[in-house]
Amino acid sequence: APLLSVRDLTKHYTTTRGGLFSRETNRIRAVDGVSFDIHPGEALGLVGESGCGKSTTASSVLRLTEPTAGDVIFNGGGRGGAGRNDDGTHPNDVTRFDRNELKAFRRDAQLIFQDPASSFDPRLSVGASIAELPLVHGMTDAERRRAIVEDLLERVGLSADEYDRYPHEFSGGEKQRLALARALVLNPDLLVADEPVSALDVSVQADILRLIDDLRAEFGLSVLFISHDISVVREVCDRTAVMYLGEIVEVGPTEAVFETP
Ligand code: ADP
Ligand code: ADP
Repeated sequence: APLLSVRDLTKHYTTTRGGLFSRETNRIRAVDGVSFDIHPGEALGLVGESGCGKSTTASSVLRLTEPTAGDVIFNGGGRGGAGRNDDGTHPNDVTRFDRNELKAFRRDAQLIFQDPASSFDPRLSVGASIAELPLVHGMTDAERRRAIVEDLLERVGLSADEYDRYPHEFSGGEKQRLALARALVLNPDLLVADEPVSALDVSVQADILRLIDDLRAEFGLSVLFISHDISVVREVCDRTAVMYLGEIVEVGPTEAVFETP
């Protein structure tokens, strides 16, 4: 059964422009009937040119933005799987989660994105920033939190000594390693990586992609990997979906999708 089943996901933005006498309302169909599955341990690539709706898809799946329509079934046995509610809705539909269900979902599904610096508070040591998440989720033992974070720092290719250092002391690539440590500290099942290497030097990109691939195996993660860069997607994704103007126009094994006819 898939870990994540997205069905007919749609997000329309409404923007209003103009003043007192002329108002113009625009509806942008950023995501328009998108469906895909991600199976446990699988990395699915989402590619397409800038503006085609990739980030909006990611935000809608994680419910950082409210989708206009569609189902996002997480850990729910997929289409014909687990039981339905009396009204026909699915009990594991993220779009219907209440506050508490969302809180649990945000432990199980984590996001990294292009600019890792913005998720670190410049006034906190990086270790303290990462240790905040387990604290919020009820791990009150400070020594245990520190030990877990130090171990993670090593697993992402940094060292335990870096716990007490501050964000500005790290390079772009190292900051993305820190972001990965933060994303993994709650042991999630799903990692959404939205253009995770686009802001990095080419020489550093390969290191981070290899790390994501290693961590995927080590943590048994499923990955939704978003990029406009086909060569990057090729490195990490088993299957790839191609988006164009808000829709998925092709999906299949990565090599088949990029095969030139
Ligand atoms: P991508 O990630 O593929 O670059 P996005 O999901 O960021 O694409 O954007 C898809 C479309 O939605 C674009 O036309 C973009 O301008 C528009 N869009 C994105 N976010 C907003 C927003 N908050 N309000 C209005 N329009 C938006
Ligand atoms: P909780 O208090 O339940 O832990 P948070 O709102 O602090 O929930 O966020 C939980 C997780 O969701 C964070 O670890 C973070 O990775 C992700 N997240 C939430 N909002 C954003 C955002 N705007 N940008 C990036 N990640 C986010």
